[in-house]
This record gives sequence, structure tokens and C-alpha cells, in this order.
Amino acid sequence: MTRLTRRMVLASGAAASLTPFLAQAQAPMLGASTPLHYRFTLGAFEVTPLLAGTGTRDKPQETFGLNATPEEFAALSAENLIPADRSQNFFTPTLVNTGKELVLFDTGLNPEGLLAALTSAGYTADQVDVVVLTHMHGDHIGGIAGAAGVTFAKARYVTGAIEHNHWSGAANEGFDKLIKPLNDKFTFLDAGQDVVSGITSVEAYGHTPGHFAYHIESAGQRLMLTADMTNHAVWSLARPDWEVKFDMDKTAAATTRRRILGQLAADKTAFVAYHLPFPALGYVETRGEGFAHIPMSYQLIMG
Ligand SMILES: [Zn+2]
Repeated sequence: MTRLTRRMVLASGAAASLTPFLAQAQAPMLGASTPLHYRFTLGAFEVTPLLAGTGTRDKPQETFGLNATPEEFAALSAENLIPADRSQNFFTPTLVNTGKELVLFDTGLNPEGLLAALTSAGYTADQVDVVVLTHMHGDHIGGIAGAAGVTFAKARYVTGAIEHNHWSGAANEGFDKLIKPLNDKFTFLDAGQDVVSGITSVEAYGHTPGHFAYHIESAGQRLMLTADMTNHAVWSLARPDWEVKFDMDKTAAATTRRRILGQLAADKTAFVAYHLPFPALGYVETRGEGFAHIPMSYQLIMG
């Protein structure tokens, strides 16, 4: 018996009746997929970066490398195989389940983005016991409340005392609307104080006046949560002194980057950084006049 090839079917004039069958043989296009959570263990803790949002932006040098020439910016980008005229931004709050408390660091741009990622990771907003705000920029406090009211009905809140004091007097619309109504649920930390056992604030001033990183440690395993100490995996790490539009004190921010990146490189500690490519996890090595990001491969998920 002669097998029918597609060419023969088409040539025979039977194509019309067989076309639906042939079309069904092809898997449909599903569009790009984006994981929304990535859970791993850290000692006795479970840590889950949550992708609360991502988007492509034009003209990155209006944000990064303000004190670099366009040629320097283009050269560093090309060296690292990323475009110089567009960038992908990520917004990654992180959940830490200590076994006693579910602690959420930062909340994304809005409740919808955060809740989609939280749900995908198997949690509900009512399970969040503590919301830690690394600083008060809108892309970190935006998920606190929305049209449905306060997002985390049962949570208490923690932030830096310096940070809260600054924005309390700044007549900032987002802070006044989202944070001030919750003031009596806040605990204010100085640098070096614990949120809960195993989670300690680390001064990382410059991006904002009271911006904190957090040291997270359980059963001898350590992770640094660095928030907006760096805002880009290449431009912030390779050139820590490049000025970033959103760093309120650019000199202090650069000094903080050099100090904390230097510690991470020396200690070979993993870190999670809010705006780096999801799941925002990696390591740092010194390279040239700055540092290089080494994305986490499998170190944190090994049994
Ligand atoms: Zn940010």
C-alpha cells in the first residue's frame, strides 16, 4: 500500500477535507511562559522569591550610568550581551517561612501582581504574619493595599526607623496613602536588629535615607536580601559608581554597593536582589573595577 505524504494529499485535491486534520497535528503556540515563584530551603527556613511584575523599558541610560558616556554604556552592555537601548525590569518580593512566621519582604507595584505570585506559590494573603518594607518607594509598597482594601489583614509591619521618619515628613502621596493608615501596626528597626530570630537588618543607605538589606540565616546557611542596593545585574555590579536616577544620595549608594558587594564576594554568600532577573538569586565575584553577577544555578536547591 502506498503511504500518503502531505505532498501527495495536496496534489490529489483532497487537501480541503484533510486540512483540519493536518492543522491539529501541530501544537498551538502558547506564548512565552514566566514562572511566578521559586522556592528553596535555607537551613530550617523556606525562601520563596515571588515575581510580582516584569516589563521592558526603553532608554535605560536615563536611569543607569547617568555619569557614564553613551559609548561607555554601550560598550559595557555589548560586553555582557545585553542591549544598551532597552532593559527588562523585574519586581521580586521574597517570602521567608521560618516555621513560626511567614515573613514577606516588599510588596510589588500593586496587590494584583503580588497576589498572583503568592497564589502560585501556594500561600494566601491571610497567612502573612509580617510584612517587611526595605524602603518606601512605590514599587515596594504598592501591594500593601488596593481597591479591595488592605492586602494582608493579619500582618504586622516592620521597617527602618530612619526610613519611616524620612517619609513621614516628605509629603509623599504613596506613603501618606498606603503607610500612614497602618502606622500603629509598625515596628521600627535600627541597623543590626532582628525582625524575627534569624532575620537581621543591615544598613544599606543611599538608595533611600534608611534603606535596609537583611541578613537571613538558618542552621548555618545564609542569604542576604539586598533589595535596591543594586538595580541591575550588569550596570550596578560592573560599575558600582555609575549613578542611578532613583538613588537619592548617589555617593552613599555607590559606597554601600562597594561595601556590600565586596562582603558578598569575600564570603561567597548568596543574595536575592529585588530588580535582578527572576528568580533574582545569585552570587558575586570581583571583576575588573567592579563586580560580576553569577546567577544561581543549582546551589540552593541541592538536597
Ligand atoms: Zn525598587
